[in-house]
Amino acid sequence: MENPFTDDVLHRFLLERAGVRGVLVRLGPAWREVAARADYPAPLRELLGQTLAASALLTGNIKLDGALSIELKTQDALRLLFAECTDQGRLRGLARWSDPLPPALALDALGDAVLAITIGSVERGQRYQGLVALQQADLAGVLENYFIQSEQLPARIVLAADGEHAVGLMLQKLPDEGGRDAAHDDDAWNRVTHLTATLGKAEMLSTAPEQLLYRLFHEESVRLFEPRPLGFGCTCSRERVSAMLRSLGRDEVEAALAARDGEIEVICEFCAQQYHFDRIDAEHLLSEGAAPEQSQTPQ
Ligand SMILES: [Zn+2]
Repeated sequence: MENPFTDDVLHRFLLERAGVRGVLVRLGPAWREVAARADYPAPLRELLGQTLAASALLTGNIKLDGALSIELKTQDALRLLFAECTDQGRLRGLARWSDPLPPALALDALGDAVLAITIGSVERGQRYQGLVALQQADLAGVLENYFIQSEQLPARIVLAADGEHAVGLMLQKLPDEGGRDAAHDDDAWNRVTHLTATLGKAEMLSTAPEQLLYRLFHEESVRLFEPRPLGFGCTCSRERVSAMLRSLGRDEVEAALAARDGEIEVICEFCAQQYHFDRIDAEHLLSEGAAPEQSQTPQ
């Protein structure tokens, strides 16, 4: 059942007694929009859904200017996994693979794999990128490692996705305050993470956010902040596609024009938006200034 008030939403909360802050993300329509872009094999679809939920989850407790992306590149059958959430709560994502894809996708078994978390804005030239080692089979474990590597604040992350919903829960232990009993804090953290461990995937996917939090943490005085709406959205534009074509160089652009009767068609992999360029457009964009640096990821 669709409920516009419980899907595509990010909840921040505080477990005051335990000294723990958290984020809960629940995606419905936004995730289905991403999932429908390709005929993803079931294990990859699940992993992509988890990655999309995680990209929103990681924006929950940071001041974001631009976007946060999670990108995994490997030399294996799973070639690319990408998800992004902007500071406006717009989400997009995709995966590329070659058949046959193994039935179970263990991240720590992938060859030459790098997972990158990038935060910031290309346009404003302010980007921070963290590379994360793939020492766990599942994405949640890999991201927990990222927090230990980058922030030293322990985090517990749970991710689940099916064809309908993608849900992520993150808990972070707040820094010890001066004079507070550290042993007591450890106890509370253990208690809260233990409660989280009882959470089944099916329950997580089928329960509305507030209900889920109260069910899990009703003894921990949950304080909920105003929820933030999320939604599918793509940041592609004719300018970005033009810059991508320019970066390919004249020879490739000429070849593309020749291959399609003098017209280049670029279809955005994220949102299926079509961009068309004829010879005059192509000449115009090639004569513009030097190409800015381009990433491998589609724009
Ligand atoms: Zn697009």
